[in-house]
Amino acid sequence: DCEAPPSSGEFEDDNVGYFMKKLCLLNFLFVKLHVWCRQPKGKWELGTIQSTSGEEASVSLSNGNVMKVARSDILPANPDILEAVEDLIQLSYLNEPSVLHNLQSRYSQDMIYSKAGPILIALNPFKDVQIYGNDYISAYRQKLMDSPHVYAMADAAYNEMMEDEVNQSIIISGESGSGKTETAKIAMQYLAALGGGCSGIENEILQTNFILEAFGNAKTSRNDNSSRFGKLIEIHFSAMGKICGAKIQTFLLEKSRVVQLALGERSYHIFYQLCAGSSSELKERLNLRMASEYKYLNQSEYLTIDGVDDAKKFHGLMEALDVIRMCKEDQELVFKMLAAILWLGNISFQVNDNENHIEVVNDEAVTNAALLMGCSSQELMEALSTHKIQAGKDTITKTLTLRQAIDARDALAKFIYASLFDWLVDQVNKSLEVGKRRTGRSISILDIYGFESFQNNSFEQFCINYANERLQQHFNRHLFKLEQEDYELDGIDWTKVEFEDNQGCLDLFEKKPLGLFSLLDEESNFPRATGLTLANKLKQHLHTNPCFKGERGRAFSVCHYAGEVLYETTCFLEKNRDPLPSGSIQLLSSCSCELLQLFSKTLNQSTKQSNSLYGGALDSQKQSVGTKFKGQLFKLMHQLESTTPHFIRCIKPNTKHLSRIYDEDLVLQQLKSCGVLEVVRISRAGYPTRMTHQEFSRRYGFLLSEANASQDPLSISVAVLQQFNIPPEMYQVGFTKLYLRTGQIGALEDKRKHL
Ligand code: ATP
Ligand code: MG
Repeated sequence: DCEAPPSSGEFEDDNVGYFMKKLCLLNFLFVKLHVWCRQPKGKWELGTIQSTSGEEASVSLSNGNVMKVARSDILPANPDILEAVEDLIQLSYLNEPSVLHNLQSRYSQDMIYSKAGPILIALNPFKDVQIYGNDYISAYRQKLMDSPHVYAMADAAYNEMMEDEVNQSIIISGESGSGKTETAKIAMQYLAALGGGCSGIENEILQTNFILEAFGNAKTSRNDNSSRFGKLIEIHFSAMGKICGAKIQTFLLEKSRVVQLALGERSYHIFYQLCAGSSSELKERLNLRMASEYKYLNQSEYLTIDGVDDAKKFHGLMEALDVIRMCKEDQELVFKMLAAILWLGNISFQVNDNENHIEVVNDEAVTNAALLMGCSSQELMEALSTHKIQAGKDTITKTLTLRQAIDARDALAKFIYASLFDWLVDQVNKSLEVGKRRTGRSISILDIYGFESFQNNSFEQFCINYANERLQQHFNRHLFKLEQEDYELDGIDWTKVEFEDNQGCLDLFEKKPLGLFSLLDEESNFPRATGLTLANKLKQHLHTNPCFKGERGRAFSVCHYAGEVLYETTCFLEKNRDPLPSGSIQLLSSCSCELLQLFSKTLNQSTKQSNSLYGGALDSQKQSVGTKFKGQLFKLMHQLESTTPHFIRCIKPNTKHLSRIYDEDLVLQQLKSCGVLEVVRISRAGYPTRMTHQEFSRRYGFLLSEANASQDPLSISVAVLQQFNIPPEMYQVGFTKLYLRTGQIGALEDKRKHL
């Protein structure tokens, strides 16, 4: 009675052999069996089989009700000894309800960390959990505690680094609001405690978080403190294991936020902090008003965040700038640039109907912006309203349209902000500088945006999802290698499991000349190109690619490892070009503000560099945003490849930011998209249950009908397996451990209980 496999809701698994399925079923569907049954609304409930007849079983649910359930709506549940196990791999049955239940029962007891093989899963508690701080740090350090924790993972990385002299990385991913940045800080806290010395550099490293968060984080609809950039911090250690320096790299800051805000969101924290917290003298020097008086900020109804004191944060920021030894003059320059950006946003234009051209309204916004930037009001107004064209020896001046003028103003604000951010990162790096001598002792922590799929996906999601595709490949490669190494070390037979490779999707993005990035760049070079022409071009060249799908109008879809995403090309070209009009570039180089001069110099350099790189193919254009990002990622992957990675997947249990609420569908969707389910699936194809011979013989040895003459654990284990006719495909006997296929321990537990 075992034809129809219990497939629905269970992970697809081509690698599980026939025998295994058969065995699962033999053990399955008998009276008293603990099962999951799917309720009419799709939820899974725990129950016990009372009787079976044909394709149905009568199940008594935990609430006392008895219901008839179709065989296809029943999945085996794990025995009680596997309740809330620390590692999902220990589960006998790895079906979806079992995995979700295991995480939930841990979460409800504030055990927010679990493992899935080598991965650490971190569920956001949305409240303070008492599992951090010095006592916990020393408990993990002294191995008094070993339950899953960021500390345990940081400790493992530190030990491996010290013992093997191999650089390590901690790669954190997850959706917005899932807790990546907090997790990264927790890991840094542990490393700072371990590697702290008398230099105080560990404190400096922790302080950089304040700076980067003030300038790179903002309130979004999903997270009040959302990082709008990717970050890699590389912490270097001396031979004695003490921190000797650090280096930060950032990726793709969301610039558009400076000039445009979505409903319910704020711009970067620093603007509100500056307006709320600066002294009256500083305010006077910067001609600064309240946040509500600036258009870049007041376009959103949110000027404050519940429970956040922006003024206090500003004081914290100033202290952090002192800690990294930024001089007061430089600090003032930074604030000046921020004020200039705010005033730029208040500059307005007037359309002169008769002559069909625009004029800049010459008000205090212009005066203040110009003053702060170190140029005359006249120069600023000209740069924002006119366009100079070289025609032979003559220069013709054309007036911009209203749209062009607004774009020029916003582009200037965005450019200043993004340059300021990069400059700050440089300053931070200078203060944390690692000595010239590089050792094999560093731990890098990567806090990067996770896979995103919204109703409306634009260029940002396109880049972010590409980055995740790259990381997923890194993850796959490493994971399979690890599994294999473990088996080989313990001397067991092991046929390599083929895994789903995402190279096809990466090729779709990267191939030249017919890949998404190349075609996007090509189209970005045509001044008349639009979202529609871009979409058509992609469809024309890529329609045969299995990872690509042309959609109606300006849209296209990509089949990512985590699911299909529909992209809308409307703003792709603009965002990829990210133009700064030549008038603005000229203006910046003539400003007396040192920072602006520096920014314009950096811009000129990068333009030259990109020209030589592309043999002038991009003409006077600078490197596109997409290409630059792709280059940054290549460099990042190259860097990560030389490290031993440790993976943390953060999960957001609900979207309301509330503690104790566990939304199963939401968790499931994240487990799928961050590849955790895939790891579990892979492990299932292997031998997920690993028990030392000692453990196994202690637990099941008494089941033997005849006393085993030799008392060594290995032969007791083998005798148990033989007595219960566990087919040889179901296990492997290693030097130190017994490896069992999924489901086997459940069967033995049942025997144990019924004897
Ligand atoms: P984004 O991608 O938007 O930057 P993120 O994944 O970095 O999101 P965090 O900013 O780290 O998310 O976390 C969001 C919020 O969740 C935090 O502000 C904090 O309130 C809460 N949180 C996350 N992790 C923890 C934790 N370990 N303990 C307590 N609260 C936490
Ligand atoms: Mg973050």
